[in-house]
Amino acid sequence: MKILVINAGSSSLKYQLMDPESGEVFAKGLCERIGLDGRLNHKVESKGIKLVRDIPMPTHGEAISAVLEILVDPENGVVKTVDEIDAVGHRVLHGGMKFSASCVIDEACKQAIRDCIPLGPLHNPANLMGIEACEKIMPGKPQVAVFDTAFHMTMPPKAYRYAIPDEYYDNDQLRRYGFHGTSHRYIALRVQELYGRKDLKVVNAHLGNGSSLCAIWNGECQDTSMGLGPLAGVPMGTRAGDVDMTVVQYICNKYNKSVDEVLNIMNKKSGVLALSGGVSSDFRDLESGAKDGNAKCALALEKFCYEVRKYIGAYAAALGGLDVLTFTAGVGENGSTNRAAICQGLEFLGVKIDPEKNAQARGKEMKISADDSKVDVWVIPTNEELMIARDTRDLAF
Ligand code: AMP
Repeated sequence: MKILVINAGSSSLKYQLMDPESGEVFAKGLCERIGLDGRLNHKVESKGIKLVRDIPMPTHGEAISAVLEILVDPENGVVKTVDEIDAVGHRVLHGGMKFSASCVIDEACKQAIRDCIPLGPLHNPANLMGIEACEKIMPGKPQVAVFDTAFHMTMPPKAYRYAIPDEYYDNDQLRRYGFHGTSHRYIALRVQELYGRKDLKVVNAHLGNGSSLCAIWNGECQDTSMGLGPLAGVPMGTRAGDVDMTVVQYICNKYNKSVDEVLNIMNKKSGVLALSGGVSSDFRDLESGAKDGNAKCALALEKFCYEVRKYIGAYAAALGGLDVLTFTAGVGENGSTNRAAICQGLEFLGVKIDPEKNAQARGKEMKISADDSKVDVWVIPTNEELMIARDTRDLAF
């Protein structure tokens, strides 16, 4: 079976054609600069193909057409005809309170995604454009939507409610939703597979350019660090993470900026990029900056690790203990120095990592805790595309 996984952003579209059973990726790539000019980056690892082509992409429709054309291209493609693609799975950012699981895309599902646009104003319209482009170009092909928020819908009210007047929840559904749900779900399932049981207290640290933590009990989300939007929680590449709202008010008043302008700063110009004095949002650059004696880069890393450690402690308290701590995504899977710094100070919880194992774990699944650690600590590479492909298989057939 071959499932096309699509992750449509406002000006970009990522794709992977993959086998949902084995996880084999036949081809993958990225359409960039949609709406501007258009560029296709396409990779077929088995054939050693890596190409970049300038292709006009005024809309997501042309981007999807370009993807299908390259997938059936006799030289650079991996299928003979589009008929070989069994179904399409779409990553959708916000499912609001309507979706606690993935769903087959029909008119009702599309309307529900549309209804969630006020909650995900940047991403949901782009996700819909990707869906509608596929419908037009591949009519009748089964399509499934997989929501970034769905895994978190098991949170209890004490975790998801904001302590603000009731009307904003009742009328506007303003509450904690959380994101990276497909990644957290992948890790939750993988931990279940590794231990052969569900009744474990797990904290997953998804640490990448965007970062979130998730408290998991019995395979279900109990709490997560992102909120109504993906700006809350720990500091990220360019996002501030938790900031007292008074800061927003102060900047608006003193610098005569709108709330939207300040939130743009909080989303795009903050996080470790800001703390490093503008050096980089990339953790590798920060590490080399810190090694070269740049105190701001060192502070950015220290602050990031400190906040992640605080969330781990908070979630251990929320769960009433901790059995397994997992690290995933770009920094979590590769950043051994950051993992060590995060875990330093968590010994009181029973977290003890083995420095050698930690240094070896880079982009591969590995237990990195010491043999006498009370808490098992793992690096588990996430695979959101595989989750999307499997949901698509399960729901479309
Ligand atoms: P993601 O958003 O999951 O793709 O993660 C991207 C982030 O992972 C970037 O900030 C990278 O700097 C970071 N990353 C990748 N490799 C490493 C590494 N070896 N050490 C530290 N951070 C890394």
